Amino acid sequence: MLNVIIFGKPGSGKGTQASMIKNKYGLTHISTGDVFRKNTSEGTKLGNIAKQYMSKGELVPDEITIAMLESEILGFVPCNGFILDGFPRTILQAKSLDNLLINLNLKIDLVIGLDVPNDRLVKRLLERGKTSGRNDDQSEDKINKRLEEYDKKTKPLIIFYENQNKFYSIDGVGSLNDVNNRLINVVDSKKND
Ligand code: ADP
Repeated sequence: MLNVIIFGKPGSGKGTQASMIKNKYGLTHISTGDVFRKNTSEGTKLGNIAKQYMSKGELVPDEITIAMLESEILGFVPCNGFILDGFPRTILQAKSLDNLLINLNLKIDLVIGLDVPNDRLVKRLLERGKTSGRNDDQSEDKINKRLEEYDKKTKPLIIFYENQNKFYSIDGVGSLNDVNNRLINVVDSKKND
């Protein structure tokens, strides 16, 4: 089993790259952003709560996000492995994930960070906003808020996973295939350890 976290700032390409490698390794892709958006469009209670935060570019509170993620993982186990995209985004989320996985006799094998400079991210997100229908991609203020949330709450996870010897950073700038090849190189080198 291979459990991978794909990590990075908003717009760094987590979702795209996760979709590209899930078939190659037979992994189950869980994107917290996608689950929240599905609930929002279906008007569920969870979706209505999440929407209040997402529309402002803020993280959804941990309690809600962790419960949602746990039920997603439990719904897919047993499987070949997971690729988590957009989770964890806080230290509490990461600790809760470790505890959940310990209880299931599983663990995270590697965390791959996609490194992209902020000016490129803002351009990418505004471009995506023209077609994605995502209102959090359509204003520079909301994008900046998401980048601030990243710096404040998510960035500390790099040290958290470095301390577990699981963190690898790759250059997220380049063609989709170039980035994908860098990612595959990291996964394969780790698998052959
Ligand atoms: P991006 O990486 O471009 O921000 P996502 O689809 O991953 O896009 O996330 C969109 C929004 O969903 C976030 O801004 C946040 O409001 C919410 N969200 C997603 N994942 C989490 C999480 N792990 N914790 C809290 N909020 C989250």
